[in-house]
Amino acid sequence: MAKLAWLGLGAMGTPMASLLIEAGHEVTVWNRSRAKAEPFEGRATIAGTPADAAREADATITMLATPDAVDEVVLGNEGALAGLGDSGTLIDMSTVGLDYVTKLRARLPESVEFVDAPVLGSVSNAVDGSLKLFIGGTEAAFERWSRVLEPIGKPMHMGSLGSGQAMKLVANSALAGLMSLTGETLALADALGLQQGSAIAGLLESPLGPAMKRKLDKIESNNYTPSFKLELMLKDMRLVDEHAVKRKIDLKLIPGAKEWISRAGDHGYGGYDYSSVVAEIRGSDATG
Ligand code: NAP
Repeated sequence: MAKLAWLGLGAMGTPMASLLIEAGHEVTVWNRSRAKAEPFEGRATIAGTPADAAREADATITMLATPDAVDEVVLGNEGALAGLGDSGTLIDMSTVGLDYVTKLRARLPESVEFVDAPVLGSVSNAVDGSLKLFIGGTEAAFERWSRVLEPIGKPMHMGSLGSGQAMKLVANSALAGLMSLTGETLALADALGLQQGSAIAGLLESPLGPAMKRKLDKIESNNYTPSFKLELMLKDMRLVDEHAVKRKIDLKLIPGAKEWISRAGDHGYGGYDYSSVVAEIRGSDATG
């Protein structure tokens, strides 16, 4: 069993840290707003700073919203790096993009082992341990840390450092694209006079069916209670855009999906589930 520091107890971090505790690991948790750490009283040590959490840990794991948040928690005053010292292991599971991971690697001492392990799946998968873990790092790092992370989901070795983030951007482009396509096909069905029930029944039989099925209750009710907030998907699509522009690749569909998600954000759907992009495209009123 390992001694772990867990930094970030949001919608995903809370159930993921709980699974590691249940698996028998000795976990110290920290969160910027302490209230989210309090439910861990008695099951884990609650640290006052990221540095304190990291000090004795075999590995320090971050699950935070954005690259700025990871910067602050790892490199900031009383940040994890102060506790990691010249050695130790940092595993970042946040979705922050390949280029950020490369930048962060350059700011860490060489002796600090760094692994990227963003996850595919949603809160329900984080609760039942069925996430997919896209891991970037050496073969040895994968062998060692995938055993520790297994209670959270299925570890998949994507290649060297940053490959996990690369895969995560690819996977979320697929999710955003499919959800936008769901919105556009339903908008077309509306315009052609099809009843929603008929359009959904027909589309469920098409290749779009499996993507739609996962969000069907939200689409049918127009209630988009978040499991993956649209504002986080927008952050990911901006990361995809930055990476694609930098590499001069010609994409049409993925930027289109980003545009729809951005419009839904402007419409006030940022705190709703990202599938509320369907309501944005159809021009129907969403709640969340
Ligand atoms: P969330 O519920 O919004 O939680 C975000 C976490 O980041 C909280 O612990 C928050 O602390 C912390 N944070 C934000 N800004 C910070 C800052 N400047 N300094 C310190 N801490 C900061 O997000 P989530 O849904 O757990 O997602 C976490 C990561 O996983 C994101 O990168 C997301 O894209 C990715 N992801 C999410 C899902 C999903 O379905 N939700 C699925 C796959 C991947 P406070 O509590 O103090 O605000």
